[in-house]
Amino acid sequence: MRTKVVATLGPASANAETITRMVKNGVRILRLNFSHSDAASFRPVIALIRQVEEELSIPLTVMGDLCGPKIRVGEVAGAPHEIDAYSDVCLGLPEEADKATGLPFIPLDQPELLLGLEDGMEVSLSDGMLTFIVTETMSKDRLYKMQSQNAGILSSRKGITFPGKHIALPAFTEKDKVDLDGCIDIGVDAIAMSFVQTAQDVEDVRAAMQKRGVWLPIIAKIERQNAVDNIESILAVADGIMVARGDLGLECKLSTVPVIQKKLIRAARHAQKPVIVATQMMLSMVKNPIPTRAEANDVANAIMDGADCCMLSEETAIGNYPAEAVGYIREIAEGTEPYYLERIKGPYKPANEGVNPVKYLSYSACLLAENIDSPAILCHSTSGASARLVCSRRPAQPVYCLTPDQSVPAYLNFFWGVIPVMTDSSLPSHRDRLVAFLEGNKGFPRGRGYILVSGQPTPGQTAPQTNEVKLYYK
Ligand code: PGA
Ligand code: MN
Repeated sequence: MRTKVVATLGPASANAETITRMVKNGVRILRLNFSHSDAASFRPVIALIRQVEEELSIPLTVMGDLCGPKIRVGEVAGAPHEIDAYSDVCLGLPEEADKATGLPFIPLDQPELLLGLEDGMEVSLSDGMLTFIVTETMSKDRLYKMQSQNAGILSSRKGITFPGKHIALPAFTEKDKVDLDGCIDIGVDAIAMSFVQTAQDVEDVRAAMQKRGVWLPIIAKIERQNAVDNIESILAVADGIMVARGDLGLECKLSTVPVIQKKLIRAARHAQKPVIVATQMMLSMVKNPIPTRAEANDVANAIMDGADCCMLSEETAIGNYPAEAVGYIREIAEGTEPYYLERIKGPYKPANEGVNPVKYLSYSACLLAENIDSPAILCHSTSGASARLVCSRRPAQPVYCLTPDQSVPAYLNFFWGVIPVMTDSSLPSHRDRLVAFLEGNKGFPRGRGYILVSGQPTPGQTAPQTNEVKLYYK
């Protein structure tokens, strides 16, 4: 299976036995969701993951998912209220409560959220279970009347979204700062950032990491319309993105999510960064031992769209069949990938790529591998970048990526079709390391040509980048 699987850990799966079964079925990335817990309680979970990693000799990636500014309403007086369709409620700052003139009042204690709210805008509550349209600005940026568009229950502390509206709040909250520090302390390998709106949000997380002297891949979760609009600049600074369909489906019209998914995946492929498709991929498997036909199709279609990774949330965190859900993703991926490769007819060459020797060289490696029907592409990378550039072309060959850096396999686990391999640095030449691995491994048959991709700085080159593609006959 070339597709990578991300599994969210929770009560149903945070034990060595289930983690082992999930990894055997193909999981390479384990997500710790900081919306529900904190670093102290995840510390023993990471110890379990490291234990499984060692037993199976498979590098695993622990991804800490920072919850970002998930906005909730305050205490609604007299809640729960039964709201009829087309009835009025008020939304405003807590101090405006007495001006609500007998209508149910929804308090919001962050004034930034109401800035720029206008008549006709949509407001959605409790994961879209209750939606409203603003009908009257009673006091600008402070108090609004809204009309419900459906019937439902209004309760306290529920999530609220303003579909499509820019929220003047940075994604990296005070809680996230504490959690990021905690993630670094307990040895997390990658960070996912929720509710990113701009490239600056990603840069804020990067700066906080730099202060601690660490580099971890940052996955920007795309779950706001703004993030969709700013995808090019976000991709330029993030190390990968997630199509976070749960919140995206609340922020944008649900019917637009399938096309947004395709556009985001395409943008990620052009930027040559990995992309995760997340949420409800196998949701019915929380209760049932097999997925629905629609879910099987969804996984296959995400792969056909060009996703690097599929993510499971409730399925593995609280479901009855965590390892089985992963097993179905594997079966579907193995059935779909050959068809996908046949359909794309050779490595991707995006239009308007311009002059970029490093990118073109890794593209040539894929073309060459295809032309000679090589059994594998072998790549040496000190940062993971060469493997990232190669795999984004979607070569038909598996890509083995050798690296001497202990921290790099955790990033390589996000890349479609890339198999991380640790190499020792006793041989000074990167190409020699690849040859030693190829010659010493019986799994690579003799009498065939292999493509070796490496970067060995030459005098005129300032940064260590891919500069060599070699055809090696074993
Ligand atoms: P969440 O993110 O599960 O942390 O909310 C994923 C999503 O919104 O799809
Ligand atoms: Mn989300």
